[in-house]
Amino acid sequence: MIHHPDVFQLVGPKVRLPPRSVLVRLKPLGMGTPYRECLSSYYQRLADVHGLTPQVLARELVFSDISQASPNKSFHFEEAWRLPSFNGLVVKEGHWPDRLKSLTRCEGLEDLTLGFLSAFVSTRGLVTKRSKWCPLCLEEDASGSTPYARLLWSFKAVTCCPKHKVNLVSSCGCPKAEWKSSGRVKCLPNVCPRCAGDLGRHDHPKATTPSTKKLLHANMVADLLVSGLANRSTTQERTLGDFLQDSVHLFMDGQAINLAGLLGVTKSTLSGWMNGKHRPEFARIIQIAELHGCSLEDVLCGRSGRAKLVLTLQKERSKEPRSRRDRGDIDWMKVVAFLKEALRSDSPLPLTKVAIQVGLRADTLRNAEPELCSAISDRWHAWRRSCTTKRDLVYADQVRMEATRLANLGHRPTWQRLVEEGFPKASIWQWRTFVQRICDEVWKEFEGSKRIA
Ligand SMILES: [Zn+2]
Ligand SMILES: [Zn+2]
Repeated sequence: MIHHPDVFQLVGPKVRLPPRSVLVRLKPLGMGTPYRECLSSYYQRLADVHGLTPQVLARELVFSDISQASPNKSFHFEEAWRLPSFNGLVVKEGHWPDRLKSLTRCEGLEDLTLGFLSAFVSTRGLVTKRSKWCPLCLEEDASGSTPYARLLWSFKAVTCCPKHKVNLVSSCGCPKAEWKSSGRVKCLPNVCPRCAGDLGRHDHPKATTPSTKKLLHANMVADLLVSGLANRSTTQERTLGDFLQDSVHLFMDGQAINLAGLLGVTKSTLSGWMNGKHRPEFARIIQIAELHGCSLEDVLCGRSGRAKLVLTLQKERSKEPRSRRDRGDIDWMKVVAFLKEALRSDSPLPLTKVAIQVGLRADTLRNAEPELCSAISDRWHAWRRSCTTKRDLVYADQVRMEATRLANLGHRPTWQRLVEEGFPKASIWQWRTFVQRICDEVWKEFEGSKRIA
């Protein structure tokens, strides 16, 4: 029996289905903490959830428009998701974060990159080129949750884990014999791409205790990742330039050159930062924050209220007059006499040593007395060469004796065998070839004498 259509209404005209996503709506990990995930790690996990390699996912879905438009051109997707471009400042429209967002319908994927810094710092030296990780963080993840790579690790300036207080490592340490052929290893943040082993472990030999300075820097960057700036919640009214100008007025008696000297840059570089013409590298921001004892966010947002000059000691030292004496104070007659004497002495000396004895810099000497100085240098190099030739001849005799001993035992002498026998190496240019040539000679003689006998 069919009811009258007015009685039933299965789906109302105003009920909307939630938008469908093409890929699983994977949630980024560690959000809201200093240990938020980075985009490359997210993408690797996303591909793995679908049983795909990151390359195939990129070719077939993420960049399908590019690969379909030019099927004959092999777009290097493997290269496209290498760390610097992936986790760095790339915030171009229609790039990775946008494309992944439209496929997963997951919001805020640009927060997994360092894009929030793009207005403030230069790209140079911001992102590490080689991936590094904290083996303890990964081990902790494996025991409770999903292992993932932290955005914090992709800063070049961060070299240790603020949580576990160990240095980050960049290699699993597996011997070459254990390496699997590429393409057979899963691409995941906690899997070694070479041996397929777990990167999370507590006994990594290189995960040593970091220096206080390294730890301080790592903590500063970690604080930045939970700041309002990184979460795009602060409205920025002042800039880095304002901060630097305040610093010059408050601590440098209005002299920008003093601040430039403390930072080790030229005055024009500093004024470029002050008027916003250039963006400093990230390491410089850390240096400025450290110098003023405030946070990275304070520096980037121009909040100079908390700033104080921490490194006053360094300031005083830089104000001291340079120890370089000008030409007027030097008794050049004496210096020239000394140089001539050095040229006649029995054991030649390098120019740097002579300069130390005279109490001047080698460059100063070279500028004032070019001929004498080059004569001293030439004599020293010739003498060094003759010494090494003599030493090499002695060493060659020793090699010959050892090679003959091996040959008499019936072993063909080679450089490897000599090393195995504990024969000492020498710092000779192309040592292996040098030793191997003698070994071959000895073996040839030995074979020849055997034939005659
Ligand atoms: Zn850690
Ligand atoms: Zn490995």
